[in-house]
Amino acid sequence: METVIQGSTLEALRAGLRGTAHAPGEEGYEEASRAWNLNAHQRPALVVVAEGAADVMTAVRFARESGMGVGVMATGHGVGAACDGGVLINTSRMRSVRVDPVAQRARVEAGALWKDVIPEAQAHGLAGLVGSTSHVGVVGYTMGGGFGWLGRKYGLNSAGVREADVVNAEGKLLRVSAEEHEDLFWGLKGGGGNFGIVTSLEFDLYPLTSVYGGNIFYPVEKAHEVLSRYASWSASLSEETTTGVAFLNIPPLPFVPEPLRGKSVITVRGCYSGEKPEAGEEIFRPVREGLGEPIMDTFSVMPVAAMDAISMDPVDPMGAVQYSELLRDLTPEAIDALIEVAGADSGSPLIMLELRQLGGTLWGRQEDLNLMGSGDSKFIMNAIGATFTPEMMEGVRAHLARVAEVTRPYQTGDTYINFMELDYASAERVRAAYPPEDFERLVALKDSYDPQNVFRFNRNIAPSKAAQ
Ligand SMILES: Cc1cc2nc3c(=O)[nH]c(=O)nc-3n(C[C@H](O)[C@H](O)[C@H](O)COP(=O)(O)OP(=O)(O)OC[C@H]3O[C@@H](n4cnc5c(N)ncnc54)[C@H](O)[C@@H]3O)c2cc1C
Repeated sequence: METVIQGSTLEALRAGLRGTAHAPGEEGYEEASRAWNLNAHQRPALVVVAEGAADVMTAVRFARESGMGVGVMATGHGVGAACDGGVLINTSRMRSVRVDPVAQRARVEAGALWKDVIPEAQAHGLAGLVGSTSHVGVVGYTMGGGFGWLGRKYGLNSAGVREADVVNAEGKLLRVSAEEHEDLFWGLKGGGGNFGIVTSLEFDLYPLTSVYGGNIFYPVEKAHEVLSRYASWSASLSEETTTGVAFLNIPPLPFVPEPLRGKSVITVRGCYSGEKPEAGEEIFRPVREGLGEPIMDTFSVMPVAAMDAISMDPVDPMGAVQYSELLRDLTPEAIDALIEVAGADSGSPLIMLELRQLGGTLWGRQEDLNLMGSGDSKFIMNAIGATFTPEMMEGVRAHLARVAEVTRPYQTGDTYINFMELDYASAERVRAAYPPEDFERLVALKDSYDPQNVFRFNRNIAPSKAAQ
């Protein structure tokens, strides 16, 4: 049943906001509820477009007093559970960024995107640990860990968090750091936004202005050769190099370079972030050798600000479904399995099936929440389908189920919280994202900070029965 908020109640709420509040049917409601992933149809009872921390506090208190749950959205790239019947806090207008060049840190508001941070940091010769696209929200990304092409060298962005302002389930603003609310500080760095709404976040930046990165595209028919060579080459790399290999079904769109347009390809991609970026040429040479002429080779020294070109993720909103698993290793048998589901004769409707290499600093520190499995996963697999029609959705889902089945023998059973979305964020999948002892600690934290599960529209860690 849809929750209807009385007009007078709504007016009283609006009077206390700097931002705006929209009930279903009102102007602005659809726009403020719409997620980047068009499959996330959210029907909140109210959406509050916040202008600052005070609006977030007001919205959480209002939800609590009205007995509703709270969801939060910056971009809608990672909706874990649709905010149906709850209060959705849209943070997209809270985008300020401040860089401290001496401490080498950035302080961002809840709605800042990586593309807001990059130029501010680069002005001081610094870089943040952006993921595959700079259009993702920094806070949401960091709540699930957050790793990209600098990952093996510098780790997850969550590991570099220094301080956060957090609105808790009572609507109070807490300052959270290694010195204040240290239990919450531990859980915040990977707990998927389960314990409160971060209104601002401070994290480390790193001295870096350019990298060597790109893609070498081969016809998908060469997948066996490319994967075998990639498997042995990548095993010998130092942590200054982060790599991946991806099957791509590239759409026949005008902006795609002609040699790739409408083609099924396999690409070796990656980034070398050592002191002399041009040294990357030599590091990537062995993987090129013996594979013959590629369709295209885009590797070059590039500014940090151009790193979106490595993953070439779509920018405009789209319907997407994804399925991700951590894989033990790229053995000959695993290679055969990947070719069966994504190779030339697989009939794959997916736009991408990618493996990114783990290891190095990504495996994290003992004292942090463990987000990348128990250390026996060398790769993370991420399979994505675009779904513009119900028929496409059916085909993609069926194929993702096949990917799950065929790759099962090579999965470690661990999952990564950030690559989980919508119906993949089930209770079991979320539990599999953490080692059992960490998960237990997270549930205890939920019991103490959010026993009523106010923050439930996410990749949810439910409180224990005792707390409810
Ligand atoms: C195209 C694409 C590329 C991606 N690439 C990478 C990648 O390379 N590496 C990687 O690690 N991840 C990647 N992701 C996953 C992405 O990091 C997550 O989906 C992340 O949650 C997106 O954050 P958002 O704020 O943009 O999305 P939103 O959908 O707005 O938020 C997602 C969730 O984050 C939490 N959250 C957001 N804001 C707050 C807040 N202020 N306080 C508390 N919790 C909050 C909430 O649980 C919310 O439901 C990618 C996703 C997509 C769609």
